[in-house]
Amino acid sequence: MFVYADHAATAKMRPCAMRAYEEAAQNTYGNASSLHTLGQQAKDLLTSCREKIASILNADPREIYFTSGGSEADNQAIFSAAYAGAKKGKKRLVSTAIEHHAVLHALEKLAREGFEVVLVPVAPNGIVSVKDVENAIDENTALVSVMLANNEIGTLQPVAKIGELCRSRGVLFHTDAVQAVGHIPVDVAELGCDYLALSAHKFGGPKGVGVLFAKKGAPLASLIEGGAQEKNKRAGTEDVPAIAGMTAALEASVADMPATSALLKRLQDKLIDGIYERVPHCSLNGDRENRLPSNVSFCFEGVEGEALLLYLNDEGICASSGSACTSGSLDPSHVLLAIGRVHDVAHGSLRLSLGEENTEADVDYLLEKIPAVVARVRSFSPVWRDLMSGKRQFIL
Ligand SMILES: *Cc1c(COP(=O)(O)O)cnc(C)c1O
Repeated sequence: MFVYADHAATAKMRPCAMRAYEEAAQNTYGNASSLHTLGQQAKDLLTSCREKIASILNADPREIYFTSGGSEADNQAIFSAAYAGAKKGKKRLVSTAIEHHAVLHALEKLAREGFEVVLVPVAPNGIVSVKDVENAIDENTALVSVMLANNEIGTLQPVAKIGELCRSRGVLFHTDAVQAVGHIPVDVAELGCDYLALSAHKFGGPKGVGVLFAKKGAPLASLIEGGAQEKNKRAGTEDVPAIAGMTAALEASVADMPATSALLKRLQDKLIDGIYERVPHCSLNGDRENRLPSNVSFCFEGVEGEALLLYLNDEGICASSGSACTSGSLDPSHVLLAIGRVHDVAHGSLRLSLGEENTEADVDYLLEKIPAVVARVRSFSPVWRDLMSGKRQFIL
């Protein structure tokens, strides 16, 4: 059997997205800046995609900028707001300890340039407190950046309340909504954000394409110099087929959302309860209720996460530990450390992220294999041996 449970890393393209991509690549291949018919057809398709995406997000089409994905959109928002703030002497940037590296590494770069970066901690349930964000904002704050849904542990952040707070304090607000768009309802007016990043490959669109929503009037600087595409804010010939694929995937995700959420919630509950029943000394990461319905993240004590993944892979199971960006490095996930997991425990993490194609049978298979693989990895773990002999105390 084969089970793909790594949708938070990337999802398979939806058939409708493939069709829209192929149709545009075959028939609407003109350069959207060209004056001839093919160029104008590409331009018209681009306009229609922009309108559809704007309407889904409750934005104005003029506030939609096509990018190469979530990382670029996050970077453009953060650098634009930071440098605009610096011109007015505002050099404080407020974010959280559990952001994606696309946000954290952009902030680290700005810190090296002399910005003051404040990362607000999160509670053990993986949720940031609005009060803590409020306390971190001062009169020199240029930007607040808080993600909508966490990519590792799936927790949902109180973004609408933070948006309201930022508006009342006159501070720009960015939200990385890459894990949320296409999965839960997202309305930029309700969230009160000035910037929002999304990425197509997280909801069944093509890889390498995304959107930056930048509210009318919010500072926006280009990261790439060149042609006048995207109102001079993002040079480079538009990838019209990818944008058409992204638009089709987003429309389908939104249309299917009620049914998909209900299915995923059922599978999620079964998986979480099943793991707790079958595996001793483990703990769910992140709040049980306030999370994406697709995310199941656990820490298993006395387990080496990489070994767990490799044995699961041998059983035909594609999963992840922490984020794709963290795997391959020996440092435990910054998100798991931020929710208070100690290093040893954080190393034994497993993230299962489900998608609309997963079934009850997939979950049954996961519940058959995970306990066996955890037991196997523990059987050759020196940490587990010490835990069992009483040399070490169990934490979980
Ligand atoms: C995947 C992801 C990104 C990066 O998006 P890309 O399109 O892969 O660049 C940023 N933020 C979060 C929360 C993500 O999950």
